[in-house]
Parts: sequence; C-alpha cells; structure tokens
Amino acid sequence: MPEKFLENAARLLSKARRVVILTGAGISAESGIAPFRGSGGIWSRYDPMEYATAEAFARDPGKVWRMLRELGDQIARALPNEGHRALARLEASGRFAVDVVTQNVDGLHQRAGSQSVIELHGSGRELRCASCDGRTAADALPADVALPPRCACGGILRPDVVLFGEMLPPGAFDVARRLTQAADLFMIVGTSAEVAPAASLPALARDHGARLIEINPEVTWLSERADVVLRGAAGDILPKLLAMEMGDRK
Ligand code: NAD
Repeated sequence: MPEKFLENAARLLSKARRVVILTGAGISAESGIAPFRGSGGIWSRYDPMEYATAEAFARDPGKVWRMLRELGDQIARALPNEGHRALARLEASGRFAVDVVTQNVDGLHQRAGSQSVIELHGSGRELRCASCDGRTAADALPADVALPPRCACGGILRPDVVLFGEMLPPGAFDVARRLTQAADLFMIVGTSAEVAPAASLPALARDHGARLIEINPEVTWLSERADVVLRGAAGDILPKLLAMEMGDRK
C-alpha cells in the first residue's frame, strides 16, 4: 500500500473531532475468529444461511447449537489483537470522541479496553433463555452439556446474538445512527458491509458530512465511495495509522 494513502488517512484523523468506527468480523480475523467470507473458517463448513437464521434455530436448535458451540469456543480462546488495541488507545487518548459500532459478538473491543462499544448484533458472551428471557454467562456452560442446553425453567438457551431474520437489540441501532450522524470521520474496518442495517451507516455518515476511511485487504462495494482506502489487515494498518497521526501532530 502506498505510504501516501496512510498519510492522507492520518491527515483526516488529525482534523477529526468525532470518530465512529464500524467494525466487522475482519477485525477479529487476526485473533483467530474467521469471518463469514474467507477460507479455513467455520463458515466454510457451516453455511450461515443454514445455520445462522432464526428459522433454522426454531426448526432444529440442536443442529444450530453445534455451529454456535464451535464459534463460542473460538470466541472463548480469542484475545484482542493490535487492531482492537489501537482503537482502544485512540479513545483513551481523549483527543477525539471515539465510538465503536460493531457487528461482532466476540467482545474483543471491550477486552482491549474500548469503553464506548455499541454491539449491533448482541453478544456471544451471554446466553438467553428463549422462554423466560433469563440470562447466564456463556462460559458457565459445561463442556459436555447436551445440545441444545436448557435453562432451569426448561426453556432452550441460546447465545444472545442476532440471527439472520431477527430484530436488532432495542435501541442499539438508534444510538449507532445518532453517533453516525454526528461523526466527522467514519472508519469502516473489516466489514464487507453486506448485512443490513449496519451497511447503511457509511452512507448516512457521508450524507451528514463525514469523511470515510476504509480498512480492508479486499475490495468492497464501499471502496469506491471512501475518501481513503487502506488495503491490508486491520492489526497492521491501525497501529501504523495512529503512529503516523501522532507524528503529524509533532
Ligand atoms: P464478513 O465476513 O461479511 O466480512 C469480513 C470482511 O473482513 C471482508 O470484507 C474481509 O475482506 C475483511 N477482512 C478479512 N481479514 C481482515 C483483516 N485482517 N483486517 C481487516 N479486514 C479483514 O463480516 P461482517 O461484515 O462482519 O458481516 C458478517 C456477520 O458475521 C456480521 O453480522 C457479524 O456479526 C458476524 N460474525 C461475527 C464474528 C465475530 O464476532 N468475530 C465472526 C464471524 C461472523
């Protein structure tokens, strides 16, 4: 990637006051959690349309749980990477208002130290009972539990995540929309932006005057709409962007 792209992005960042970062599965790829699109991950063995929909869960929760269990194990083993940590440092610098709007359910932004994280698709760290709505920590589930796991009330437990065909957690998207409208810099990191309604946020930011930076090793439909595109892995690019922005200010 040419150095001047990083310089352009650093210049946009140093002028910004309110930064919103939309993240997707790609930012956690370097933590060992594979995105939907990409080889080698669990999604190459489980078709998300067959295993990650509300209908599939209603039809055969035990089958969907086999995939959820594998994703849950990946999440439990994963640690935040340099990309998550760089975003936490950006917020901690106190020089910008920084909000992370994430489609991820792995909790790695929070574990890296980010304080303002809006989870659009819920959290894989919690289980919710489909009958009584009671909640319990995902890591409290015994390794040899029969699938699907049951709540004390007898109802079926499920990760507190949004499956395809379900509503987003109440309020989360409203907060994301409000922050997006107020942003002067909107960064799109590690997402193919194919999943609605998160995919609508970059255009909303743009319509309200924000500049757009995309960080992704692959071309997406947003690439030609962004002011600056940084091609590469988030864990490599984000620390470099922060370091360059700090240098610019000296
Ligand atoms: P996606 O799988 O559609 O797209 C991932 C994007 O990340 C791709 O464009 C890919 O080129 C890019 N990418 C891959 N490696 C990268 C890296 N190292 N740095 C930066 N970018 C990289 O993922 P999505 O857009 O998040 O949408 C799919 C849905 O899958 C979301 O709803 C999300 O909730 C869910 N999901 C979440 C996790 C997680 O919580 N970690 C994992 C898998 C899927």
